[in-house]
Amino acid sequence: MGLRIDQVTKAFGGTIALDGVSFEVESGEIVAVLGPSGCGKSTLLAVIAGLERPDTGDVAWNGETLLGTAPYLRGFGLMFQDYALFPHMNVFENIAFGLRMMGMDKSQVNARLEEVLDLVGLHGFEKRDISTLSGGEQQRVALARSLAPRPKLLMLDEPLGSLDRTLRERLLFELGEILRNLRQTAIYVTHDQEEAFAIADRVVVMNEGKVIQVGTPQAVYAQPTSLFVARFLGLDNLIRGVARIQDGATLIDTSLGSIRVDGQFEGELTVLIRPNAARLHAEGELLLKAQLLERSFRGTICRATFLIHGERLRFEFPSDVMLEEGKTLLLSLDPKSAVQVLR
Ligand code: ATP
Repeated sequence: MGLRIDQVTKAFGGTIALDGVSFEVESGEIVAVLGPSGCGKSTLLAVIAGLERPDTGDVAWNGETLLGTAPYLRGFGLMFQDYALFPHMNVFENIAFGLRMMGMDKSQVNARLEEVLDLVGLHGFEKRDISTLSGGEQQRVALARSLAPRPKLLMLDEPLGSLDRTLRERLLFELGEILRNLRQTAIYVTHDQEEAFAIADRVVVMNEGKVIQVGTPQAVYAQPTSLFVARFLGLDNLIRGVARIQDGATLIDTSLGSIRVDGQFEGELTVLIRPNAARLHAEGELLLKAQLLERSFRGTICRATFLIHGERLRFEFPSDVMLEEGKTLLLSLDPKSAVQVLR
Protein backbone atom coordinates (compact mmCIF):
# COMPACT_ATOMS: atom_id res chain seq x y z
CA MET A 1 0.00 0.00 0.00
CA GLY A 2 1.25 3.48 -0.83
CA LEU A 3 2.87 4.86 -3.96
CA ARG A 4 4.25 2.68 -6.75
CA ILE A 5 6.33 4.09 -9.59
CA ASP A 6 6.59 1.47 -12.30
CA GLN A 7 9.02 1.73 -15.23
CA VAL A 8 8.39 5.45 -15.73
CA THR A 9 10.09 7.05 -18.73
CA LYS A 10 9.88 10.72 -19.70
CA ALA A 11 11.78 12.53 -22.44
CA PHE A 12 11.86 16.22 -23.40
CA GLY A 13 12.86 16.34 -27.06
CA GLY A 14 16.15 14.46 -27.16
CA THR A 15 16.74 14.57 -23.37
CA ILE A 16 15.68 11.51 -21.42
CA ALA A 17 14.83 12.93 -18.00
CA LEU A 18 13.48 9.65 -16.55
CA ASP A 19 14.59 6.28 -17.87
CA GLY A 20 12.62 3.27 -16.59
CA VAL A 21 12.29 4.52 -13.01
CA SER A 22 10.70 2.09 -10.54
CA PHE A 23 10.40 2.20 -6.74
CA GLU A 24 7.76 2.18 -4.02
CA VAL A 25 6.93 4.35 -1.05
CA GLU A 26 5.10 2.40 1.64
CA SER A 27 2.38 4.07 3.65
CA GLY A 28 3.97 6.08 6.50
CA GLU A 29 7.45 5.83 4.99
CA ILE A 30 9.87 8.70 4.23
CA VAL A 31 11.81 8.00 1.04
CA ALA A 32 14.60 10.34 -0.03
CA VAL A 33 15.33 10.69 -3.74
CA LEU A 34 19.02 11.56 -3.89
CA GLY A 35 21.05 12.51 -6.93
CA PRO A 36 23.11 15.22 -8.62
CA SER A 37 21.67 18.20 -10.45
CA GLY A 38 19.90 17.19 -13.65
CA CYS A 39 19.37 13.52 -12.68
CA GLY A 40 15.59 13.85 -13.05
CA LYS A 41 14.39 14.54 -9.50
CA SER A 42 12.08 17.46 -10.31
CA THR A 43 10.68 15.67 -13.36
CA LEU A 44 9.91 12.66 -11.16
CA LEU A 45 7.97 14.85 -8.70
CA ALA A 46 6.10 16.51 -11.58
CA VAL A 47 5.08 13.07 -12.90
CA ILE A 48 3.93 11.91 -9.46
CA ALA A 49 2.00 15.16 -8.91
CA GLY A 50 0.36 14.77 -12.33
CA LEU A 51 1.90 17.95 -13.76
CA GLU A 52 3.76 15.90 -16.39
CA ARG A 53 2.47 12.76 -18.08
CA PRO A 54 5.00 9.91 -18.38
CA ASP A 55 5.75 8.65 -21.91
CA THR A 56 5.54 5.09 -20.66
CA GLY A 57 5.09 3.39 -17.27
CA ASP A 58 2.65 3.87 -14.44
CA VAL A 59 2.18 5.82 -11.21
CA ALA A 60 -0.23 4.10 -8.80
CA TRP A 61 -1.63 4.77 -5.33
CA ASN A 62 -2.76 1.78 -3.28
CA GLY A 63 -2.61 -0.36 -6.42
CA GLU A 64 -4.72 1.93 -8.63
CA THR A 65 -3.26 3.92 -11.48
CA LEU A 66 -3.28 7.70 -11.15
CA LEU A 67 -2.59 8.46 -14.80
CA GLY A 68 -6.19 9.44 -15.47
CA THR A 69 -6.48 11.50 -12.25
CA ALA A 70 -6.03 15.30 -12.38
CA PRO A 71 -3.31 16.77 -10.10
CA TYR A 72 -5.75 18.41 -7.66
CA LEU A 73 -7.70 15.16 -7.26
CA ARG A 74 -4.63 13.09 -6.33
CA GLY A 75 -4.61 14.44 -2.76
CA PHE A 76 -0.83 14.96 -2.77
CA GLY A 77 1.01 17.92 -1.27
CA LEU A 78 4.14 19.66 -2.49
CA MET A 79 6.64 21.81 -0.62
CA PHE A 80 9.34 23.68 -2.52
CA GLN A 81 12.68 25.21 -1.66
CA ASP A 82 11.45 28.78 -2.08
CA TYR A 83 8.24 28.01 -0.10
CA ALA A 84 6.09 29.98 -2.57
CA LEU A 85 4.31 31.69 0.33
CA PHE A 86 2.09 34.67 -0.52
CA PRO A 87 4.18 37.61 0.80
CA HIS A 88 1.24 40.03 1.04
CA MET A 89 -0.83 37.69 3.25
CA ASN A 90 -0.31 36.85 6.91
CA VAL A 91 0.39 33.35 8.28
CA PHE A 92 -3.30 32.54 8.79
CA GLU A 93 -4.29 33.57 5.28
CA ASN A 94 -1.40 31.65 3.71
CA ILE A 95 -2.49 28.40 5.31
CA ALA A 96 -6.25 28.99 5.19
CA PHE A 97 -6.24 29.72 1.45
CA GLY A 98 -5.89 26.09 0.37
CA LEU A 99 -8.32 24.82 3.00
CA ARG A 100 -11.04 27.21 1.82
CA MET A 101 -10.39 26.11 -1.76
CA MET A 102 -11.14 22.57 -0.59
CA GLY A 103 -14.53 23.79 0.66
CA MET A 104 -13.86 23.75 4.43
CA ASP A 105 -16.10 26.07 6.45
CA LYS A 106 -14.79 28.79 8.77
CA SER A 107 -14.84 26.82 12.01
CA GLN A 108 -13.12 23.83 10.38
CA VAL A 109 -10.44 26.12 8.93
CA ASN A 110 -9.86 27.78 12.32
CA ALA A 111 -9.56 24.43 14.10
CA ARG A 112 -7.17 22.99 11.51
CA LEU A 113 -5.07 26.17 11.56
CA GLU A 114 -4.58 25.88 15.30
CA GLU A 115 -3.62 22.20 14.96
CA VAL A 116 -1.00 22.69 12.25
CA LEU A 117 0.53 25.79 13.81
CA ASP A 118 0.94 23.85 17.06
CA LEU A 119 2.46 21.00 15.11
CA VAL A 120 5.20 23.18 13.63
CA GLY A 121 5.77 25.19 16.83
CA LEU A 122 4.23 28.45 15.59
CA HIS A 123 1.35 28.79 18.02
CA GLY A 124 0.16 32.43 18.11
CA PHE A 125 1.79 33.40 14.77
CA GLU A 126 -1.54 33.66 12.88
CA LYS A 127 -1.51 37.44 12.41
CA ARG A 128 2.17 37.84 11.57
CA ASP A 129 3.08 39.07 8.08
CA ILE A 130 5.24 36.67 6.10
CA SER A 131 7.81 39.44 5.51
CA THR A 132 8.43 39.74 9.27
CA LEU A 133 9.35 36.06 9.70
CA SER A 134 12.83 34.54 9.74
CA GLY A 135 13.81 32.00 7.07
CA GLY A 136 13.28 29.13 9.51
CA GLU A 137 9.83 30.42 10.50
CA GLN A 138 8.83 30.81 6.86
CA GLN A 139 9.93 27.25 6.25
CA ARG A 140 7.66 26.10 9.08
CA VAL A 141 4.71 28.07 7.70
CA ALA A 142 5.30 26.39 4.35
CA LEU A 143 5.35 23.01 6.09
CA ALA A 144 2.15 23.83 8.02
CA ARG A 145 0.50 24.90 4.78
CA SER A 146 1.44 21.71 2.96
CA LEU A 147 0.34 19.52 5.89
CA ALA A 148 -2.95 21.35 6.55
CA PRO A 149 -5.03 19.52 3.89
CA ARG A 150 -3.74 16.15 5.27
CA PRO A 151 -2.07 15.06 2.02
CA LYS A 152 -1.88 11.31 1.39
CA LEU A 153 1.65 11.90 0.14
CA LEU A 154 3.83 14.91 0.87
CA MET A 155 6.58 15.70 -1.64
CA LEU A 156 9.38 17.95 -0.42
CA ASP A 157 11.66 19.38 -3.12
CA GLU A 158 14.97 20.54 -1.56
CA PRO A 159 12.90 22.15 1.23
CA LEU A 160 15.90 23.36 3.25
CA GLY A 161 18.10 24.35 0.33
CA SER A 162 18.20 28.08 0.95
CA LEU A 163 18.85 28.00 4.71
CA ASP A 164 22.21 28.18 6.44
CA ARG A 165 23.85 25.00 7.67
CA THR A 166 23.07 25.22 11.41
CA LEU A 167 19.42 26.06 10.81
CA ARG A 168 19.19 23.37 8.18
CA GLU A 169 20.39 20.72 10.59
CA ARG A 170 17.96 21.79 13.30
CA LEU A 171 14.98 22.01 10.96
CA LEU A 172 15.85 18.71 9.36
CA PHE A 173 15.66 17.03 12.76
CA GLU A 174 12.35 18.75 13.59
CA LEU A 175 10.91 18.00 10.16
CA GLY A 176 11.80 14.31 10.53
CA GLU A 177 10.14 14.22 13.94
CA ILE A 178 6.94 15.90 12.69
CA LEU A 179 6.63 13.63 9.65
CA ARG A 180 7.28 10.50 11.70
CA ASN A 181 4.82 11.44 14.46
CA LEU A 182 2.14 11.98 11.81
CA ARG A 183 3.16 8.75 10.02
CA GLN A 184 3.15 11.01 6.95
CA THR A 185 4.02 9.22 3.71
CA ALA A 186 6.67 11.44 2.14
CA ILE A 187 9.17 11.80 -0.68
CA TYR A 188 12.11 14.06 0.15
CA VAL A 189 14.14 15.20 -2.86
CA THR A 190 17.71 16.40 -2.35
CA HIS A 191 21.21 16.38 -3.81
CA ASP A 192 22.68 16.36 -0.27
CA GLN A 193 23.49 12.88 1.01
CA GLU A 194 23.71 13.98 4.66
CA GLU A 195 20.20 15.41 4.45
CA ALA A 196 18.87 12.26 2.76
CA PHE A 197 20.53 9.97 5.30
CA ALA A 198 19.30 12.01 8.26
CA ILE A 199 15.64 12.05 7.33
CA ALA A 200 14.85 8.98 5.23
CA ASP A 201 13.75 5.46 6.05
CA ARG A 202 14.99 4.50 2.59
CA VAL A 203 17.04 6.26 -0.05
CA VAL A 204 16.61 6.05 -3.84
CA VAL A 205 19.87 7.11 -5.52
CA MET A 206 19.40 8.44 -9.07
CA ASN A 207 21.75 9.39 -11.88
CA GLU A 208 20.99 10.39 -15.48
CA GLY A 209 17.30 9.54 -15.16
CA LYS A 210 17.90 6.06 -13.75
CA VAL A 211 17.54 4.53 -10.30
CA ILE A 212 21.03 3.35 -9.37
CA GLN A 213 20.50 1.97 -5.85
CA VAL A 214 17.67 1.67 -3.30
CA GLY A 215 18.07 0.83 0.37
CA THR A 216 18.15 2.09 3.94
CA PRO A 217 20.70 4.87 4.52
CA GLN A 218 22.78 2.40 6.54
CA ALA A 219 22.75 -0.24 3.80
CA VAL A 220 23.54 2.19 0.98
CA TYR A 221 26.44 3.72 2.91
CA ALA A 222 27.77 0.35 4.05
CA GLN A 223 27.45 -1.31 0.66
CA PRO A 224 27.44 1.04 -2.36
CA THR A 225 26.89 -1.15 -5.39
CA SER A 226 28.60 1.04 -7.98
CA LEU A 227 31.45 3.49 -8.44
CA PHE A 228 28.94 6.29 -9.00
CA VAL A 229 27.25 5.76 -5.62
CA ALA A 230 30.57 5.41 -3.79
CA ARG A 231 31.87 8.68 -5.27
CA PHE A 232 28.57 10.46 -4.72
CA LEU A 233 28.68 9.49 -1.02
CA GLY A 234 32.19 10.93 -0.75
CA LEU A 235 33.82 7.49 -0.55
CA ASP A 236 36.71 8.37 -2.82
CA ASN A 237 39.50 6.00 -1.75
CA LEU A 238 39.08 4.03 -4.97
CA ILE A 239 42.03 2.13 -6.42
CA ARG A 240 42.30 -0.18 -9.39
CA GLY A 241 43.26 -3.81 -8.87
CA VAL A 242 43.42 -7.24 -10.46
CA ALA A 243 41.85 -10.13 -8.60
CA ARG A 244 43.15 -13.70 -8.58
CA ILE A 245 42.30 -16.82 -6.66
CA GLN A 246 45.11 -18.36 -4.68
CA ASP A 247 44.68 -21.40 -2.45
CA GLY A 248 40.91 -20.85 -2.45
CA ALA A 249 41.19 -17.22 -1.27
CA THR A 250 40.71 -14.04 -3.36
CA LEU A 251 43.74 -11.76 -3.53
CA ILE A 252 43.60 -8.38 -5.25
CA ASP A 253 46.89 -6.99 -6.50
CA THR A 254 46.92 -3.20 -6.13
CA SER A 255 49.49 -0.43 -5.89
CA LEU A 256 49.19 -0.84 -2.11
CA GLY A 257 50.10 -4.53 -2.30
CA SER A 258 47.97 -7.67 -2.33
CA ILE A 259 44.72 -7.35 -0.43
CA ARG A 260 42.87 -10.46 0.70
CA VAL A 261 39.08 -10.04 0.45
CA ASP A 262 36.01 -12.17 1.11
CA GLY A 263 34.06 -13.40 -1.90
CA GLN A 264 35.10 -14.70 -5.29
CA PHE A 265 36.39 -12.16 -7.82
CA GLU A 266 38.55 -12.34 -10.87
CA GLY A 267 40.01 -9.84 -13.33
CA GLU A 268 40.19 -6.06 -13.22
CA LEU A 269 38.11 -4.22 -10.67
CA THR A 270 38.03 -1.27 -8.27
CA VAL A 271 38.69 -1.55 -4.56
CA LEU A 272 36.99 0.83 -2.16
CA ILE A 273 38.97 1.48 0.98
CA ARG A 274 36.65 2.96 3.57
CA PRO A 275 37.71 6.10 5.45
CA ASN A 276 37.69 4.23 8.76
CA ALA A 277 40.02 1.48 7.49
CA ALA A 278 43.33 2.81 8.78
CA ARG A 279 44.91 2.29 12.19
CA LEU A 280 47.98 4.01 13.53
CA HIS A 281 49.83 0.95 14.71
CA ALA A 282 52.48 -1.15 13.17
CA GLU A 283 50.69 -4.47 13.24
CA GLY A 284 48.06 -6.23 11.14
CA GLU A 285 47.80 -7.72 7.71
CA LEU A 286 48.45 -4.72 5.47
CA LEU A 287 51.18 -2.35 6.63
CA LEU A 288 51.74 0.79 4.61
CA LYS A 289 54.23 3.64 4.69
CA ALA A 290 52.11 6.76 4.50
CA GLN A 291 53.10 10.41 4.19
CA LEU A 292 50.62 12.74 5.86
CA LEU A 293 49.82 15.53 3.39
CA GLU A 294 47.14 17.40 5.32
CA ARG A 295 44.67 17.04 8.13
CA SER A 296 41.46 18.87 8.90
CA PHE A 297 39.63 19.02 12.20
CA ARG A 298 35.93 18.06 12.01
CA GLY A 299 34.79 18.03 15.64
CA THR A 300 34.84 14.48 16.98
CA ILE A 301 36.88 13.21 14.04
CA CYS A 302 39.74 14.51 11.99
CA ARG A 303 40.19 13.78 8.31
CA ALA A 304 43.71 13.13 7.06
CA THR A 305 45.01 12.86 3.50
CA PHE A 306 48.01 10.59 2.93
CA LEU A 307 50.26 9.79 0.02
CA ILE A 308 50.66 6.01 0.01
CA HIS A 309 52.56 4.29 -2.79
CA GLY A 310 51.63 7.14 -5.15
CA GLU A 311 47.90 7.09 -4.22
CA ARG A 312 46.19 9.95 -2.36
CA LEU A 313 43.96 8.33 0.27
CA ARG A 314 41.77 9.96 2.90
CA PHE A 315 41.15 8.45 6.32
CA GLU A 316 39.30 9.47 9.45
CA PHE A 317 40.61 9.23 12.99
CA PRO A 318 39.32 10.28 16.40
CA SER A 319 40.36 13.95 16.81
CA ASP A 320 42.59 13.23 19.78
CA VAL A 321 44.95 11.12 17.63
CA MET A 322 48.17 13.08 17.17
CA LEU A 323 49.03 13.53 13.49
CA GLU A 324 51.79 15.79 12.22
CA GLU A 325 51.70 17.05 8.65
CA GLY A 326 54.68 16.11 6.50
CA LYS A 327 55.56 13.10 8.68
CA THR A 328 55.78 9.57 7.33
CA LEU A 329 53.85 7.05 9.42
CA LEU A 330 53.14 3.37 9.38
CA LEU A 331 49.44 2.63 8.89
CA SER A 332 47.71 -0.70 9.04
CA LEU A 333 44.57 -1.37 6.99
CA ASP A 334 41.88 -3.72 8.12
CA PRO A 335 40.89 -5.51 4.89
CA LYS A 336 38.03 -7.46 6.54
CA SER A 337 35.81 -4.61 7.66
CA ALA A 338 37.00 -1.80 5.48
CA VAL A 339 37.71 -2.92 1.95
CA GLN A 340 35.03 -3.53 -0.66
CA VAL A 341 35.09 -4.52 -4.27
CA LEU A 342 33.21 -2.45 -6.85
CA ARG A 343 32.67 -3.12 -10.52
P1 ATP B 1 18.10 19.95 -10.22
O1 ATP B 1 18.55 19.27 -8.96
O2 ATP B 1 19.18 20.79 -10.86
O3 ATP B 1 16.80 20.67 -10.09
P2 ATP B 1 16.84 17.58 -11.29
O4 ATP B 1 17.50 16.36 -10.79
O5 ATP B 1 15.60 18.02 -10.63
O6 ATP B 1 17.87 18.77 -11.32
P3 ATP B 1 15.29 17.70 -13.74
O7 ATP B 1 14.92 19.13 -13.55
O8 ATP B 1 14.23 16.70 -13.52
O9 ATP B 1 16.59 17.32 -12.86
O10 ATP B 1 15.87 17.54 -15.21
C1 ATP B 1 16.28 16.31 -15.78
C2 ATP B 1 16.72 16.54 -17.22
O11 ATP B 1 15.60 16.86 -18.04
C3 ATP B 1 17.70 17.69 -17.37
O12 ATP B 1 18.62 17.35 -18.37
C4 ATP B 1 16.82 18.85 -17.83
O13 ATP B 1 17.55 19.76 -18.61
C5 ATP B 1 15.76 18.13 -18.63
N1 ATP B 1 14.44 18.83 -18.57
C6 ATP B 1 13.65 18.94 -17.48
N2 ATP B 1 12.51 19.61 -17.78
C7 ATP B 1 12.59 19.94 -19.10
C8 ATP B 1 11.72 20.62 -20.03
N3 ATP B 1 10.55 21.10 -19.65
N4 ATP B 1 12.15 20.77 -21.30
C9 ATP B 1 13.35 20.27 -21.70
N5 ATP B 1 14.19 19.60 -20.89
C10 ATP B 1 13.83 19.43 -19.62
